[in-house]
Amino acid sequence: MKRIYFDYAAAAPVDPRVVEAMTPYLTEIMGNPSSVYTEGRQAIREIQNARQQVAELIRANSDDIVFTSGATESNNLALLGAAFNQKVPKKHIITSVIEHVSVLDPCKFLETQGFELTYLPVDNEGLVDPNEVLNAVNDDTLFISVMYANNEIGTIQPIPEIGKIANEKGILFHVDAVDTLGQIPIDVEAAHIDLMSLSANTIYGPRGVAALYIKNIKKRRIQPLFHGGGQERNYRSGSENVPGIIGFGAAAEIAKKEMESESQRLRGLRDKLIVEILTHIPKTALNGHRTKRLPANANIRFNYIEGESLVLSLDMEGFAVATGSACTSKTLEPSHVLTAIGLPHEEAHGSLQFTLGRWTTEEEIYRLLEVLPDIIKRLRMMSPLTPPDLLEE
Ligand code: PMP
Repeated sequence: MKRIYFDYAAAAPVDPRVVEAMTPYLTEIMGNPSSVYTEGRQAIREIQNARQQVAELIRANSDDIVFTSGATESNNLALLGAAFNQKVPKKHIITSVIEHVSVLDPCKFLETQGFELTYLPVDNEGLVDPNEVLNAVNDDTLFISVMYANNEIGTIQPIPEIGKIANEKGILFHVDAVDTLGQIPIDVEAAHIDLMSLSANTIYGPRGVAALYIKNIKKRRIQPLFHGGGQERNYRSGSENVPGIIGFGAAAEIAKKEMESESQRLRGLRDKLIVEILTHIPKTALNGHRTKRLPANANIRFNYIEGESLVLSLDMEGFAVATGSACTSKTLEPSHVLTAIGLPHEEAHGSLQFTLGRWTTEEEIYRLLEVLPDIIKRLRMMSPLTPPDLLEE
């Protein structure tokens, strides 16, 4: 049975064109950018080229890109780096309740170090209100960190509006754009973003390579997490992952060329999936904003269903689908994002996250729509929560 994959947000395949760009640097070309001979100089040129390719995707200056080992590192570098690098110490940080754990946990750590955190709520579609950001700002506010789009429910935040507030108040603005990169246009200048976390795998690059955009990098407004060889202009010591960085660059170049048409295609498939499920399966609803959402994300709740049973039933039919963020799915707690948008525990537990990608086809969507109604019916028949009249329908 051919497997059908609807969990691109958890892990995406590497585009064969990216593999092709990387392969010589895995097998033949060995250069370490710190070496002065030909191979080393070639590695430097390739890294600079990749920096340019990644920068172009977010309309940034290529000098302002620092390569890291993953989005978790980028988020930690941004938050801890900014918190501990102050000439005029400020102690107040603003973030939102629906950030990824790799933002929330560094924030919790900063609380133990004497920082004061404001966790902004979101409305029932997952949106942060820029007025609440403005109200939370005080003279002691050091930075604001709000994700571009949520990895679970796909809601896209009003980032330019929040950026404008941060800019007017002279506060650093960090944005976790990991799931947004390559899905919608990003312009760091127009959105007044100072720090932005990016990851290669979400644009079909390799895992284990990511970046932090640092506006006006020479101003050194953040300090490094790692100390050592001084690579990446002292922001990230450690030998560069040359093949990975080249892959990230190649993936960024492809994303820039193909984003517009590909996002339109994915929006069409996503909407078909959402509309068909909501019209043909009773007691279902969309989590997140209907239109302000990532083109490839559909997060749907199925009342009276336990999400894990649905995932396993779909797995047996050949589908890979998630109940929530892969990063936190090992806990039995319901998703903090779904509870933040006001879902009671049962509804949060009965939610499924479908993320589509470059190789998702219309046929795969139809295949899912063929099997899903019967699986839902069967699980509801076994669920003590299902009202009897629903079973008669
Ligand atoms: N931020 C967001 C929004 C994410 O979705 C993820 C996970 N894909 C991360 C950060 C952390 O990424 P990684 O586990 O690759 O470090």
